[in-house]
Amino acid sequence: MEHKRCISSLTVEELAAEMKAMGQPAFRAKQIFHWVHQKLVTDFAAMTDQPKALLARLEEAFYIAAPQIERRQQAKDGTVKYLLRMADGNCIETVVMRYHYGCTVCVSTQVGCRMGCRFCASTQAGRVRDLEAGEICSEIYTAQKDIGERISHIVLMGIGEPLDNFDQVMKFLSLISSPDGVNIGMRNISLSTCGIVPQIDRLAQRKLQLTLSISLHAPNDAIRSQMMPVNNAYPVAQLMDAVRRYQDTTGRRVSFEYSMVRGVNDSDACARQLAGLIRGMGAHVNLIPINPVDGSPYSATDAENVRRFQAKLTSLGVNATVRRRLGSEISAACGQLRREEMVQAQHTQPDGKGDAYETCREN
Ligand code: SAH
Repeated sequence: MEHKRCISSLTVEELAAEMKAMGQPAFRAKQIFHWVHQKLVTDFAAMTDQPKALLARLEEAFYIAAPQIERRQQAKDGTVKYLLRMADGNCIETVVMRYHYGCTVCVSTQVGCRMGCRFCASTQAGRVRDLEAGEICSEIYTAQKDIGERISHIVLMGIGEPLDNFDQVMKFLSLISSPDGVNIGMRNISLSTCGIVPQIDRLAQRKLQLTLSISLHAPNDAIRSQMMPVNNAYPVAQLMDAVRRYQDTTGRRVSFEYSMVRGVNDSDACARQLAGLIRGMGAHVNLIPINPVDGSPYSATDAENVRRFQAKLTSLGVNATVRRRLGSEISAACGQLRREEMVQAQHTQPDGKGDAYETCREN
């Protein structure tokens, strides 16, 4: 597989250039794009309107991203979690959640992660590699075919930091929202980031209609730096400035994720400080009790205190909801399934030792 390129990562324009190089008519580019991104075939032989000789040449140079379902877990609430094995043998996680308005897929954007958040299983062994645009698409196609229902919404909240794989994630967004593909509208897509400020500014320039979600998790630097090393590089005040610039540039409201950890970020004082940060922005806060992972010192705030925190925010003029914990009995928290698999198999060798932002403390 190593020498072959992933054809699922190519745009119609890029496919047209390949067709030209192969002496083929340009219209074949769109036909092939349809096969990969609309009819979701995973085999060149299925492209029945293409000349046999062309298919043989494509087969030699390319592969279609078609991950194997290594493990599949289904929760009582309908949430399905997949451990997917990519062409190079690496595993990632993809989750389908069913809501009244349709099916949402939560996709991974990297194999592993180098952001080092203390509560997150995805980052415990660092980052192995970035996913390609077509591989991210294939997570959605694999899930859609498996459940037999159309995917209407996407959240980039699986393994990896989307803004740490900027170019491939931007390409993924254009492939997945293409009218020649599955055509999932940008307004149905949420991108979640731990807060890499320069990349938030870069994203703002694209003026996309997606929802940007910020993993804030703490209202001040003392607590946030302890939970998330990225805060050493881009502290809360800088992050909030970037969020305001993002809202000004795109005209889109941002939402905040706040995972609640008992005795760490769940006090009344935290609620007041948080309200002070985001009041008046029209932004929304999603509260979710932390899902404790092995090797992490954190435990979850109990439901009653989450409610109290929410009520406090509401009384201070901040719109907050408590996230339903879909599929918590199937280790649906970010990276837990892959972690289990790695502990069992221990075949993946991460490149990054330690956290990407650990060194930033000296800066
Ligand atoms: N890297 C991106 C997206 C992936 S994580 C980001 O940081 O936003 C998706 C969300 O789940 C983030 O808000 C992340 O902080 C949160 N998260 C990760 N592990 C968690 C856990 N064990 N319990 C609760 N939330 C968790």
